[in-house]
Amino acid sequence: MSYFTEYKCYSLKSIQRIMERQVGKVLNEVLEANASYANDFGDKANLAMPPARGFAILTCMDARLDPAKYAGLAEGDAHVIRNAGGRASDDAIRSLVISHKLLGTTEWFVIHHTNCGMETFSDEIMRGLLASSLETATIDENGWRDTGAGPGSSEGYFIDWLTIDDNAMSVVADVQRIRSHPLVPSSVPIYGYIYDVKTGQLNEVPEATKAGAAS
Ligand SMILES: [Zn+2]
Repeated sequence: MSYFTEYKCYSLKSIQRIMERQVGKVLNEVLEANASYANDFGDKANLAMPPARGFAILTCMDARLDPAKYAGLAEGDAHVIRNAGGRASDDAIRSLVISHKLLGTTEWFVIHHTNCGMETFSDEIMRGLLASSLETATIDENGWRDTGAGPGSSEGYFIDWLTIDDNAMSVVADVQRIRSHPLVPSSVPIYGYIYDVKTGQLNEVPEATKAGAAS
């Protein structure tokens, strides 16, 4: 399982140190950054609500991905819908339908990425972890395990975690799901790509783009 070698393995103590360091500090950092941003807001007050460049991106919430940078977006340009994996969940489709129906986007991208955390677990693993503890789990060469205290919750058994076995296959599956959704018009092309976290490049998944072609 090569993806485990890509992960840093944190001990419970190091995770606790990271969390202690960030609590309180992060809030101040964000508010300071915002004050600076608002100070230099310029003419962005005049932006229209519909995306000026008429497109939407569905992508992963992974902290290494910055869609504004990797796709060249400024404020007001495009819709960016993010969730774990960039999966075509019911809620992602809700946003895409609003994006087209009410705000006029006419082209959509589904962008997953290499080394996605969603490749590191299955529904059964996530459900088992949550059933024993709600604290942050750790990963090592043997996979995910709980080191935190209980109790957990069995609610995880009622959620489809939309994990990923194969990156290209997940992009194709998501484009196909959006393409065949009854609320999605056939006129909207859907492009499928994988962002490479080692190079910053977007690589097309031709089978996905083919499946997402407009008609
Ligand atoms: Zn991801």
